[in-house]
Amino acid sequence: MIKTRFAPSPTGVLHVGGARTALFCWLFGKKMGGQFVLRIEDTDLERSTEASVQAILDGMAWLGLDHDEGPYYQTQRFDRYAVVIQQLVEQGDAYYCACSKQRLETLRETQMANRQKPRYDGCCRDLGLKPDDKQTLVIRFKNPQQGEVSFIDHVKGEIIVSNQELDDLIIARSDGSPTYNLSVVVDDMDMEITHVVRGDDHVNNTPRQINILKALGATCPEYAHLPMILGEDGKRLSKRHGAVGVMQYFEDGYLPEAMLNYLVRLGWSHGDQEIFSIDELIEYFSLDDINRSASTFNTDKLKWINQQYMMNRPLGEIVTLVENRLGGLQIEYESGPEFDNIIDLYRQRTSTINDLVDSIRYCFEDFDEYDAKAAKKALRPVALEPLNLLLNQLSELDNWEKNTIHLVIERVTEQLELNMGKVGQPLRVAVTGGSFSPPIDETVAIIGRETSLARISKAISYISSK
Ligand code: GLU
Repeated sequence: MIKTRFAPSPTGVLHVGGARTALFCWLFGKKMGGQFVLRIEDTDLERSTEASVQAILDGMAWLGLDHDEGPYYQTQRFDRYAVVIQQLVEQGDAYYCACSKQRLETLRETQMANRQKPRYDGCCRDLGLKPDDKQTLVIRFKNPQQGEVSFIDHVKGEIIVSNQELDDLIIARSDGSPTYNLSVVVDDMDMEITHVVRGDDHVNNTPRQINILKALGATCPEYAHLPMILGEDGKRLSKRHGAVGVMQYFEDGYLPEAMLNYLVRLGWSHGDQEIFSIDELIEYFSLDDINRSASTFNTDKLKWINQQYMMNRPLGEIVTLVENRLGGLQIEYESGPEFDNIIDLYRQRTSTINDLVDSIRYCFEDFDEYDAKAAKKALRPVALEPLNLLLNQLSELDNWEKNTIHLVIERVTEQLELNMGKVGQPLRVAVTGGSFSPPIDETVAIIGRETSLARISKAISYISSK
């Protein structure tokens, strides 16, 4: 059975790159009817935090990237790593090394001075050192000295590395704790991972890991190393480019489905198609279609995709998201068909839930100021006459409905022989505070009688006081 894993180090939030890796692992697992394992690589005790673990779990939950196994924690598997390290020593594939920091430093400097690649020279390889009581010895893997390591990467193609390029890496520190390459190998082996999908910052580790796996007699997984994600300035994506933690996008009012859709397109494509349902992704996804070159994170494109989802998700879902946001802002509103109607109107014109909420606040809250530009243009003395007529005639309306309101506005334009804009726009600025809203009759209907009339009166006073 196919098994993938996402193996984040909990040293920060789940960032965009990590989320994309998780998504590709998850998708491939789903596509192949396999399993997806979540493994928390928390061996770096100084940099790993509980909060980061939680942030990663939250990010994955928000995106709906559910795992079939785990989360496993590497800190709970130290005993197992120790067993494997001893096994490697006993079978002659690893050895104790007593080289001092100073010796290694001098070695390194000499190599650099001779323009050689810094590498361990195998000084203790054949000394047969035994552990000492003071625990000052590290353990190194005996990397083969002949031959080469090769593997076919699903993204990068065939990779061949000569064993002479690889030195004897440390697999256990002097306190016995395992290093990254050792713990990853043991886990991938024990968890029976068949496909390792990860960032290409790890591609140089792969030949080393393959050698250890072979020494352990394990089957090597297949590999796919994902190219980097760059910011729009061509530099590696980082905080400088704005939000990098996926939960920031939740805060900012993006939909998880849109985020997934955007993430999948960072390095993977299927013809010209931009919008994919999850089922389509599972159907079309293939590790072999991942681009070899880096992809660029583009917020405008993410916004565009989000807008598509805002328009096309079931209205009820959008309503719930808006309600949650309004609740968070402690804005009172009355739910019901009219409320849904406003949201339906506005979701066509806004690109995030936060934009939508900002655009409809005027329905539930009085505003203190008009949008300056809108007021300057629409709330001028020429608007007094239409606003007064509207106030009178609207206050006499029996049924406060879009159609009846429409008739009043039409009647006023006829009486004053004005075009629609000269009547509708002052009315819009009066009731919404800005120059942008759904059709004005609908807007006035939604805002309600009392509020609309009060706001028209207020606009009349505003113009008169100028
Ligand atoms: N823990 C590593 C990281 O967060 C990933 C290791 C792996 O995927 O092999 O970069």
